[in-house]
Amino acid sequence: MKPLESINEKIKLLDENQADPVLRSIGEKVLNRERILNEEGLILFEKASLSFSGALANFVRESLHGNKTYFNRNFHIEPTNVCVFSCAFCSYSRLYAHRDEGWELSIEQMMDLVKKYDGKPVTEVHIVGGVHPKMNLYFFVELLQKIKAHRPDLHVKGFTAVELDYMFRKAKLSVAEGMKILHEAGLDSLPGGGAEIFDEEIRKQICEDKVDAAGWLDIHRHAHLLGMHSNATMLYGHIENYAHRVDHMDRLRKLQDETGGFNTFIPLKFRNKGNDMSHVAESSVVEDMKLYAVSRLFMDNFPHIKAYWPMLGRQSAQLTLSFGVNDLDGTIDDSTKIYSMAGSEEQHPSLSTTELVALIKQVKREPVERDTLYREIRNYKDMDLAAMALSPLYN
Ligand code: SF4
Repeated sequence: MKPLESINEKIKLLDENQADPVLRSIGEKVLNRERILNEEGLILFEKASLSFSGALANFVRESLHGNKTYFNRNFHIEPTNVCVFSCAFCSYSRLYAHRDEGWELSIEQMMDLVKKYDGKPVTEVHIVGGVHPKMNLYFFVELLQKIKAHRPDLHVKGFTAVELDYMFRKAKLSVAEGMKILHEAGLDSLPGGGAEIFDEEIRKQICEDKVDAAGWLDIHRHAHLLGMHSNATMLYGHIENYAHRVDHMDRLRKLQDETGGFNTFIPLKFRNKGNDMSHVAESSVVEDMKLYAVSRLFMDNFPHIKAYWPMLGRQSAQLTLSFGVNDLDGTIDDSTKIYSMAGSEEQHPSLSTTELVALIKQVKREPVERDTLYREIRNYKDMDLAAMALSPLYN
């Protein structure tokens, strides 16, 4: 960790940004790397200027990671968008009765997607989709086994807690039993989706029928107990208020204190196209940056904060790198439709390694390719972009 430069520099950061005594004392806690309380998180949301919370978040980010900005080379598989649930914010799913409007991939079709990357330097496949009533635990066991037999080195990060909860209940297995079966079949880690907002009242309004907060957290707890890592998300910018955000982050922070199994916190921006909440306006870029900054300050036991560029758009994602974020996810290769169907400007999300590296270098950060568990694969700091652009290795 980068040492605090000097006490004078800390005071300068506060002096230049803050006269309010309450905010100043929160700032002092952050600079001394002390945990901020829930009420202090709320005050940051309600009262702090973007420049104040941003400067503090950048201080924490640089203390933890310097200029390093992580990404990986990955692709997604979305087995289906048919779903037994109908979350109000979802633009992606189709009910089983309307499955002719969606897609349902067979194991062979999914293996064809995996084989498309034979010989290519991807390190991770991310598998998430709708909760299909006929794609059960044993269907996915077969998929996992086939992926691992074909390409043992590929890290499989798969299935939200929502999908897992349904699979386990349908198979009449406990969370511990179900998780062990999937892990043994080849599931390496869990993505962070399905968390939305944990508050029960908000959940009732936006995703009433799927796994609740306690169930979501329990699934991640069991994954961590098996030695697996996972990520955590928060869907923000819809009908939740600041207190709901703090409560959500607090529940995650507590589980992280208990298990230490989370890698990354990923705020996900609500997009309003083609869903039952299209009347709800989307958050502004200023609100987005504020959220990233407060997340970095509040989630003191999460090593990484990620901006998922297919959801946010690449320019906003670049901006987040000054507001606490140190990870931009991956190359994606136009393999996910979740946010393009919700109106993201990224209609075919795909970035070559060269483009991702350029994006990070443009804002004077240091691009580092990582694997899913944040082991460094390559630092591109001194790589020449023009040379990269000519090489098939990076495009
Ligand atoms: S958000 Fe997930 S669980 Fe909810 S309807 Fe969409 S695909 Fe189904």
